[in-house]
Amino acid sequence: MAEKTYDGIKARSSVSGLPEAEVNGLWEKVRENHARLTKCQGVHKFEAIEKTGGGLGVRFRCTKCGGDVNRDSLYWYAIGVAAALCQPAPMLAAEALLMLSRIPDNG
Ligand SMILES: [Zn+2]
Repeated sequence: MAEKTYDGIKARSSVSGLPEAEVNGLWEKVRENHARLTKCQGVHKFEAIEKTGGGLGVRFRCTKCGGDVNRDSLYWYAIGVAAALCQPAPMLAAEALLMLSRIPDNG
């Protein structure tokens, strides 16, 4: 029996109304960003790069690898770094972000 496969590009195109080629291009950018982030050596060094409205659309780019993330991803990344460094839990986002700024850049 032939197994059906899920066509994510087609589904996203249908939901968004964007042409499949445009969805595919956006998805390729996501893959490239992920590849940059996963190849980064050591701890990312994020800086705010843009606001797209109300402060919630701020994105952060790593000055080492060029990968970028949204605020939520940065928050959870910072919490993970705090845990890896055995900092007391629970750690507030501001404390985690402050700690990130204190980590020496070895790369
Ligand atoms: Zn990085």
